[in-house]
Amino acid sequence: MKEIRCGTCRKLLMKSADRAIVGIIEIKCPRCGTMNSLRPLEPFSERQERHTPEKTCPGNSSSKTR
Ligand SMILES: [Zn+2]
Repeated sequence: MKEIRCGTCRKLLMKSADRAIVGIIEIKCPRCGTMNSLRPLEPFSERQERHTPEKTCPGNSSSKTR
């Protein structure tokens, strides 16, 4: 799930799945009144969170009990 936040005051506006947005969505922030336009390919908040694709490192030398 992706958090859609206001670009101005960072209020959480809604949550959506990754490909739930198929068109342009305009949502007005109830707090500051900013109209946030959401596009399906690139959300307005692109530097909000980093996703590191290599999260699972299979070559770790720490042997735990699995
Ligand atoms: Zn706002």
